[in-house]
Amino acid sequence: MNRLAIFASALLLAPVNVGAQEAKTVPAPDERFKADILLVVAHPDDEGGATPYLARAIYEEHKRVAVVFATRGGSGGNDYSREHGPALADIREQEARQACARMGITNVWFLDGKDTASQNVLNSLANWGHGANLEALVRIVRLTRPEVIISWLPGVFIGENHGDHQASGVLATEAFDLAGDPVAFPAQAAGASKRLEPYLEDMTPWQPKKIYFFADASDEKQFVGKGPAYSIREVSPSQKKPYWRIALEAAKPHLTQFPTEIHRLSSLSDEQLEKMMSDPDHAWWSEPMTLIFGKATVPVQPWEAIFPDVEARQKEPPRSTEAASAPAPVLDSLQPVSLALGDPWHFYEAFRHAHNLPNLPVAPIPEIAVKAGSIVGVPVIITRKPGAPREITVKATAPSGWKVSRGEGKFLLPDEETTDLRVELQSPEIPANELKKRKTDSVVVSGSVGRKSVGEFTLRVLLCSSALPQ
Ligand SMILES: [Zn+2]
Repeated sequence: MNRLAIFASALLLAPVNVGAQEAKTVPAPDERFKADILLVVAHPDDEGGATPYLARAIYEEHKRVAVVFATRGGSGGNDYSREHGPALADIREQEARQACARMGITNVWFLDGKDTASQNVLNSLANWGHGANLEALVRIVRLTRPEVIISWLPGVFIGENHGDHQASGVLATEAFDLAGDPVAFPAQAAGASKRLEPYLEDMTPWQPKKIYFFADASDEKQFVGKGPAYSIREVSPSQKKPYWRIALEAAKPHLTQFPTEIHRLSSLSDEQLEKMMSDPDHAWWSEPMTLIFGKATVPVQPWEAIFPDVEARQKEPPRSTEAASAPAPVLDSLQPVSLALGDPWHFYEAFRHAHNLPNLPVAPIPEIAVKAGSIVGVPVIITRKPGAPREITVKATAPSGWKVSRGEGKFLLPDEETTDLRVELQSPEIPANELKKRKTDSVVVSGSVGRKSVGEFTLRVLLCSSALPQ
């Protein structure tokens, strides 16, 4: 467009008949990018956690889906070819694009997060460059204008509990809250007034209506009733195959991640596949799949269908007795000195409050899975009011076979409101066959000032044959 044309179009845009009653008009979205659902995940192949539901949304409800991967998966394993590191990231980006394309999803973006192998969301956020990636995600929300965002559950649960998964859920929540606010990343929303504007982006702020999550926890039953449930075994009327089958076919490009399974699945007959998916020990997804309700900017019941206008009405599910929204241990603000479980648990407590997510599931007793024989670090946060005693005694107890290796004893607290400590315990080595049926061990950390208890908390630890580092 030349300068004259810009002048002419500016005249056309000049307000006519602007009355006080006139509704605020929003520029139409670019239909090439407009999404009904924006999936925000961490790694190439994470989309597989939601594809059985997305298949239904795409094929039956004609919903438009776009996907954001926060990392390119360069720190993952490669079980198919030689490449690692940045070369693996190049491969995994293409695997993810091919997997999405199998379900007709072509709007796929990658942020600049670095694949970070730990269970601590704060490690991932630090290593990713939290701010720059949040800005990039807000931009994608403003471009795609999704009605619904779906992401990984921000929270700590026994299971894979990948810090990157949780970090993508943190970013998705923050972007949900910020994208509609013109003051958040304002240069994105500022109007470009000249041709070849290199700085201001002229985007429209956009508030998605709802946000849902799915989890990498090993026990998915605990989330029953926390959001709408979708059958993965139901046969897609348009595709004439079960939703799990569509999702399985879409996962096949991820050869670097599970080549053995992909080759084995390709050799199975339809009957064998059906049998495998009916076996809860071998199925890739649980039946039904629950999408955990985060929050909404429109009136909605947590268990209602994601798109109630086009979906069959969901029935209110029975409430799970295990599902909990129980608060994690809180710092006792009345005590002059108090002690509680530190980050990432402490962070999540503040996060749920700051983002108004009271519905988000929380483990009734804080929990984590670690490799048997490893050192278990228990973060402790101590608060001390001005003038309160400085000397605190920290003690840890654990079942027989465990040994406290660091962090117990008397401490002189500094002149600061909060102090972070770390208690370390050596977990027992357990033979692999005994780990399979093992229940959690309770590690209890308590604090006392003189003879007075100032708090204690329990961390349930499941010892496993393998787990990400804490
Ligand atoms: Zn992942």
